[in-house]
Amino acid sequence: MTVTTSLPGSSVPSAADRRPWRSRARRDAVVRTGAAAALWLALLGVDWMWAADGGLQALTAWDTALTSLGQITGLASAALLLAQVLLMARVPALEAAFGRDRLVGIHRLVGLWSFNLLVAHLVLITWGYAAGSITAWPATFWDLMWQCPGMLLAVGGTVALVLVVVTSVRAARRRLRYESWHLLHLYGYLGAALALPHQLWTGQQFLARPAVTAVWWTVWALVFAAVLVWRVALPAWRSWHHRIQVTGVVPEAPGVVSVHLMGRRLHRLVEPGQFLVWRFLGQQGWTRGKPYSVSSAPTSRSARVTVAAVGPASTAAADLQPGTRVVVEGAYGRLTRRARTRRKVLLIGAGSGLAPLRALAEGLDYAPGEAVLIERYREHPLFAAELDHLAATRGLGVVRLPGRRRADGSWVGPGFDGDDDERVLRGWVPDVAERDVYVCGPPAWTQSVREAALAAGVPAAQLHSEDFGW
Ligand SMILES: Cc1cc2nc3c(=O)[nH]c(=O)nc-3n(C[C@H](O)[C@H](O)[C@H](O)COP(=O)(O)OP(=O)(O)OC[C@H]3O[C@@H](n4cnc5c(N)ncnc54)[C@H](O)[C@@H]3O)c2cc1C
Repeated sequence: MTVTTSLPGSSVPSAADRRPWRSRARRDAVVRTGAAAALWLALLGVDWMWAADGGLQALTAWDTALTSLGQITGLASAALLLAQVLLMARVPALEAAFGRDRLVGIHRLVGLWSFNLLVAHLVLITWGYAAGSITAWPATFWDLMWQCPGMLLAVGGTVALVLVVVTSVRAARRRLRYESWHLLHLYGYLGAALALPHQLWTGQQFLARPAVTAVWWTVWALVFAAVLVWRVALPAWRSWHHRIQVTGVVPEAPGVVSVHLMGRRLHRLVEPGQFLVWRFLGQQGWTRGKPYSVSSAPTSRSARVTVAAVGPASTAAADLQPGTRVVVEGAYGRLTRRARTRRKVLLIGAGSGLAPLRALAEGLDYAPGEAVLIERYREHPLFAAELDHLAATRGLGVVRLPGRRRADGSWVGPGFDGDDDERVLRGWVPDVAERDVYVCGPPAWTQSVREAALAAGVPAAQLHSEDFGW
């Protein structure tokens, strides 16, 4: 079995790549501003629909005010629900501009507001139909559910959305396996789809204006088309086009293996620092995609992922056979040169979180002294020979910090008594505040590095991190 690492002759940046991050950064900033503006415009749009239909005038009497507030909360909730679906549709421009972790954070916030408004809508509109009598609320709700067109479907949709929200609460999430949570989360699409008919069949704003109905239909159709194109069609096409297969598996450390892959134009598929969701066909449980970052800068023909065994799928990676075909989704993530704002960089990783940083150490453009990599590990450092090679040939500074973390909430190991986390960081990298800091590792550890870096004067815009969690 022949396995090549991508170090010699791999995609070390060319002269043409030297300053790309500035123009990409501007483009990403435009996308972020555009996305925020589109969200606020959508909310303003539904406010306009509501006001144009006499929503404001209805606020003068108790029962009509309840119905009117029920309508605007319902419209705003539906607009946010669509935004939520779009945020997770893997739209390439959004993925590149925000990065996965930030998109997930915004998706959660928008989802929370959408859900709160949905509950308000349900309570207020039923209360309004009950002529402002709270005691008549249950009977009115029952009647509406059975008599209004599309309402039973909407109730079913609401139940699906409640399921999604309840299982997304942190305490509930911890009790679930990722796969179970993910499967339940797909009910969100069902919830959104079931809610649509009652809006169009009974919503006053739609019944009165066919043009508004047409726009609403179009927006919903576009959002669902985005999901189909970017979550289904594009991954299918990419998997076919790049024809990825396993060429070999190499042990890196106890419980850690590198899976070497070959394919077509892989450097166009994924850049150093990004991850893909991998399905190794024929492997047990292959239907459940697993996210792994590339651990070397991909060449046109080859790429590599490095996998730490923590559960069934990651343990089975050691048994992958050459020739195994691979289906991928992605690439995703913004832990790349795209996020770069400064010449100097600090890469800091723990455990398998070192994988994307190892790829970045190879793929980024830097002069000797401009890039430093700090590795935290318990017993066995990863990629030791490759990092030493990068140190010798490209002037990468390498710092290895072995041992268990000295305490929860600290990012460093033993041997720094008397120094706080921030002083340790500045001790190793005195000019840390002038660097872009790329961090990758388990969520709690990543958080403690972020805190130390911020305390050491690194501006938030220079901090780029990825959690290996969900
Ligand atoms: C963006 C990202 C990049 C990653 N890159 C790497 C990498 O380069 N190398 C590496 O060794 N590990 C990486 N991981 C972690 C890796 O995906 C999990 O360790 C792996 O999926 C575990 O699967 P399992 O079936 O072996 O274990 P399970 O028992 O199924 O899971 C163990 C733990 O892994 C996490 N996990 C499982 N499935 C997923 C999923 N689909 N998405 C997110 N988290 C999941 C959960 O926290 C779970 O508790 C990455 C994770 C993320 C989110």
